Amino acid sequence: MNTSTDFKKFLPNANWINGHWITAESGASIEVTNPADGTIIGQVPNCGAAETGSAIDAARQAFEKYSHSDINTRVRLLRELHDGLMDQQEALARLLTAEQGKPLAEARGEIAIGAAYILWFAEEIRRTKGELIPSPTSDRRLMVTHHPVGVVAAITPWNFPSSMLARKLGPALAAGCTVVVKPASATPYSALAWGVLMEEVGFPPGVVNILTGSAAAIGSTIMSSPHVRKVTFTGSTAVGKQLIRQSADSVKKISMELGGNAPFLVFDDADLDAAVEGAMISKFRNMGQTCVCANRIYAQAGVHDAFVSKLSAAIEQLTLGPGSEPDVTQGPMIDMAAVEKVETLIGDALQQGGKVVVGGQRHKLGGTFFEPTLVTGVTERMQFATEEIFGPVAPVLRFDHEEEVVAAANRTEYGLAAYIYTQDMARIFRLNESLDYGLMGFNTGLITTVEAPFGGLKESGIGKEGGSQGLVDYLATKYVCIAGLG
Ligand code: NAP
Repeated sequence: MNTSTDFKKFLPNANWINGHWITAESGASIEVTNPADGTIIGQVPNCGAAETGSAIDAARQAFEKYSHSDINTRVRLLRELHDGLMDQQEALARLLTAEQGKPLAEARGEIAIGAAYILWFAEEIRRTKGELIPSPTSDRRLMVTHHPVGVVAAITPWNFPSSMLARKLGPALAAGCTVVVKPASATPYSALAWGVLMEEVGFPPGVVNILTGSAAAIGSTIMSSPHVRKVTFTGSTAVGKQLIRQSADSVKKISMELGGNAPFLVFDDADLDAAVEGAMISKFRNMGQTCVCANRIYAQAGVHDAFVSKLSAAIEQLTLGPGSEPDVTQGPMIDMAAVEKVETLIGDALQQGGKVVVGGQRHKLGGTFFEPTLVTGVTERMQFATEEIFGPVAPVLRFDHEEEVVAAANRTEYGLAAYIYTQDMARIFRLNESLDYGLMGFNTGLITTVEAPFGGLKESGIGKEGGSQGLVDYLATKYVCIAGLG
């Protein structure tokens, strides 16, 4: 294993289009900074419509050949990509921490799960079987066959800039699709690093193209192109809705992994220590900046006070600092707007009778460091009940009855993740039916795994990533009727 920590080779300051590293036609660039200290990491091209058009053309041309390539060839390329990622895990993790801020241990985990997605889809593509359907008449044969859907555009967020791309590249490349990637402007290097690795592995030119720059210009060129047959997006619900609307004109296949407002329910019969451990993982991972973060913590009256006391003790153990330093559990938030948002939500709760038990302030480290926070006395009228917090703030609400908390948990337009702590098996099955969420964790705060379909209901999204379901969206299914065989 390569244990190099040097990530210079993953700072290309260029975009990867048709197998070449290019700069923006205008020469413009975007500065990428380290959220822990504001230092400039580098500059990436500020590309727009022209470069996006070139990337789509390259992907289109590459599709002609790549879509017909042997499965063995694709599997080999993906396996080598997996090995390359793991070989460079330490350098890639350090790059990720530098541009995104998360603690190194989390960054290493993100690189590893990204690599695991690549391997999973390399294995799964061998099992995409078609069907032979019994024909109603003896002179016909009816078949169902699967084919790569075409050129895919992948748009990714800043909170998991490497693994969110892995969940899209893995199935697309396994299926035989070619890809145009647009990463978040705050964290572009973790995506460009995939280009560096793919070049090393020997992916043919144009199979993957990675563009940084204006979201509006790149986005609208992608969405208006009839040659892009599928768009896979992870990001906010607001941008997702805009892309869904734009997809209508050329009737693209779409996958949308959007925002969440996860309820975390702790019943009187819960194992409280396990519930606290789960709440800590699901709330404070990545400084609370994950789409599946516990957003509203509901504790039943009988355990409310004991749970709050244990949770506050656990929060006080967290260590803030630059993610690159050993033992740090909480890095900086991504930017000042994120800090201001949590301050607004805390202020709204305080005005309406909420109480800050731990934290509540910007951290003395300055910049975008914010104290991990626990707020109690939270009610359904507060913004905490409806807004995606996306920060290190745990609001706790009290409830009495199961029916009441199920109704409250479902009272949101989101439907991504829900967590439930209870020892009652009958309740587990009841809540599986009554809670409107695409991802459910019973007695655990960490549920993502490559083998399972990740994706939300309602306004949290369309489609699944991971599992066998994660491949379906990248395939076009054809029904074939062969007549005259009698
Ligand atoms: P965002 O603002 O929606 O941005 C996501 C991506 O979309 C970025 O690459 C952004 O580019 C791009 N974008 C912005 N406007 C666009 C447009 N008009 N056309 C095309 N692309 C456009 O979201 P974010 O702040 O990066 O991520 C946080 C959100 O993602 C949260 O709501 C979170 O819940 C959600 N999320 C969901 C999942 C899931 O699996 N369901 C996973 C992770 C995150 P720029 O950076 O250049 O603006």
